[in-house]
Amino acid sequence: MNIDGIDIEIERKPIKNMHLSVYPPDGRVHLSIPDYLADNDAKSYIISKWEWITKKRDEIASQERQTQREYVSGENHYLFGERYLLRVAYTTSGANTISTQGNVMTMNIRQGSTQERRAELMAEWYRSQLKEYVTTTMDKWMKQLDETEVAWQIKTMKTMWGSCNAKKRSVLLNLELARVPKECIDYVIVHELTHLKVQSHNKLFEALMTKRLPGWRHKREKLNSFIALPI
Ligand SMILES: [Zn+2]
Repeated sequence: MNIDGIDIEIERKPIKNMHLSVYPPDGRVHLSIPDYLADNDAKSYIISKWEWITKKRDEIASQERQTQREYVSGENHYLFGERYLLRVAYTTSGANTISTQGNVMTMNIRQGSTQERRAELMAEWYRSQLKEYVTTTMDKWMKQLDETEVAWQIKTMKTMWGSCNAKKRSVLLNLELARVPKECIDYVIVHELTHLKVQSHNKLFEALMTKRLPGWRHKREKLNSFIALPI
């Protein structure tokens, strides 16, 4: 259901009361409703809660902006769901590198480098880590789902984990996925590949997801709660 440009996911369940949630990072709106109620009931409930929904979405958007990092020693950074303590070591020669050992992430970078340069190095490193994982994982899922010739790309995106253009058979994946557990990346990949068959998030789409990746709802929750963890 789409109201005023915002997609609302409606899930029918054997429950007594409506349950409304707004999730980070993109302010996804989810409503669980008792299974005997109609779409119109859901709609009037959503409208009655509209002010709360927009307030919540604004809060999430500003939280996202606050998670800006400075890339200095002592910060926490995540790779594939694991938390690492950043150690910045300045070098006078040699290449800029990032490596991990135990739960320490070491950034070797030339003395006097700006915060911008450190952020860039980190983004490049995340991109190469994610690319390596997605290359094998995308292959595995394409075989399993009997799909061929899908082009994919990693991009910096503000509001989506991924997107799929079924006509062009191309998938975009958010660079931020390098931070989340691998099972959540698999969820996003299967989700986007499923859009090659079904374009909207309807019942058929959900049934196909359940067949392809049982427990996908749980993985989605994990993905959306993960990014909300304090850094
Ligand atoms: Zn989708």
